[in-house]
Amino acid sequence: MAKSSKTSKKTAKTAKPKKSTLKLKNKALLKQACFINNDWKTAKTGEMIDVVNPFDGSLVGQVPSLSKAEVKKAVTHSQKAQKDWAKKTAFHRAELLHKWADLIEQNKQDLAIMMTAEQGKPIKESLGEIDYANSYIRFFAEEGKRVYGDTLPNDKDDLRYVVLKQPVGVCASVTPWNFPSAMITRKVAPALAVGCSMIVKPATQTPFSALALGELALQAGFPKGLLQIVTGKSDVVGGVLTSDERIAKFSFTGSTEVGRKLMAQCAETVKKMSMELGGNAPFIIFDDADLQKACDGLIASKYRNAGQTCVCANRIYVQNSIKDKFVKLYQKQVEQLKVGNGMNKNTDIGALINQDAMKKAQSLIKDATDKGAKLVTGGKVHSSSKLCLTPAILDNVDESMAMASTEIFAPVTAIYGFDTEDEVIQRANDTIFGLACYFYTNDLQRSWRVSEQLEYGIVGQNTGLISTAVAPFGGVKQSGFGREGSKYGVEEYLTTKYWAINVAD
Ligand code: NAP
Repeated sequence: MAKSSKTSKKTAKTAKPKKSTLKLKNKALLKQACFINNDWKTAKTGEMIDVVNPFDGSLVGQVPSLSKAEVKKAVTHSQKAQKDWAKKTAFHRAELLHKWADLIEQNKQDLAIMMTAEQGKPIKESLGEIDYANSYIRFFAEEGKRVYGDTLPNDKDDLRYVVLKQPVGVCASVTPWNFPSAMITRKVAPALAVGCSMIVKPATQTPFSALALGELALQAGFPKGLLQIVTGKSDVVGGVLTSDERIAKFSFTGSTEVGRKLMAQCAETVKKMSMELGGNAPFIIFDDADLQKACDGLIASKYRNAGQTCVCANRIYVQNSIKDKFVKLYQKQVEQLKVGNGMNKNTDIGALINQDAMKKAQSLIKDATDKGAKLVTGGKVHSSSKLCLTPAILDNVDESMAMASTEIFAPVTAIYGFDTEDEVIQRANDTIFGLACYFYTNDLQRSWRVSEQLEYGIVGQNTGLISTAVAPFGGVKQSGFGREGSKYGVEEYLTTKYWAINVAD
């Protein structure tokens, strides 16, 4: 996890937002205010927070720093909205969600520009993320129509049993900066589809992607208070969202460290929770694998978003008999990747989120090389920006090095050698995390053995890309609990009510 650096987050006592210089077709999408009860609000104190472009340090804009009381007001609106919304049919709710998705699609270019400006990722990835974010809205709009209850066989003559599935109620979520839109829609869409309302606190480094989703929800005709986006100091806003007893469900995506704290805060009011936390993904390449496919899959997994995803390959285990051959092939491809300003359409690797992320990557590389790893390529600050790192490959990494137990969150490939299947499974599972893992083999029997033994919520075999709205995304161990996407993602926003009826005359 990269902590916010002091240079990327400043508060200023001014209610007048500075003008943004972003080149957007629809400038109204850049909202420097919170989306509350279908209105745009600044903080009563006038306190604003700067949001800067990580690539060049320029100001993207400012967002309000709300007080506790202002967030509590949003909860009141949310509660009122939820009661009305739950009475609508799933078909009505789906129609509105599709309208929202249509508007997101129409404004895709502007949304992607805003995302790259505040987050740093290459514009082609931002465009991809908007599609990905929208796929959750479309999927859940339809899935909401398939929330079935149940009737149960009776065990007593006079009784009949019915199971009702109902919306859990008012929901709140806190989301990270690495996927500023998708981490929001995959919570908001299932919640709204089944009759819940939602308050979102986006990451302070990337609030504009979230606020633009609010503006498009307004244009789509969302009722007042159904979706609200609040910004401010994480302990103030998060404090209310995890403690207000009117909030029934809390969904968090972020680091394990913060997740632990928020779970404890939610315990007081016994909220239903989903926790999508950090990872330490192993990526295993067996000697029977197609090495070219493994190379392509690893690049896709490792270097997406400059290595800043929770499912990025973190420990790459290559069978010793093919390791040298693989490293040569991989190096050739990695050295082709273009580093620089995310706004350029050819850029493959953009800026890291802040100076702390850069320092962390540099210190992990130093620790590994000091302990005997070989820096094969990259690992230098790129000339275009002090936050761009050239893609690094480290060979001969081992478990004594800090990067073995740390989410690297940077474009750094760490290669470990191994000899046997049993050995690599034991090493791959030797972590507190259990989000995603990957392996490459064409052996059917091995496929089953390995897939069943890996202690992870998500397994990718012969692919480096596993995220999709149609499958359940989530972890085990200290990577959290709950699932997002698919029919399983809907359950997170439902309660099960059992109804016993005496039918005796
Ligand atoms: P983070 O530091 O945990 O922050 C995530 C969110 O929590 C931000 O909105 C942050 O607000 C907020 N927050 C921080 N401290 C808080 C507090 N005391 N009370 C309430 N809210 C608080 O994580 P990050 O650096 O943004 O994101 C990277 C992490 O997310 C990585 O560990 C990654 O693996 C994980 N992640 C997991 C998944 C998944 O699906 N499992 C997906 C994406 C990312 P501020 O921005 O205001 O500090």
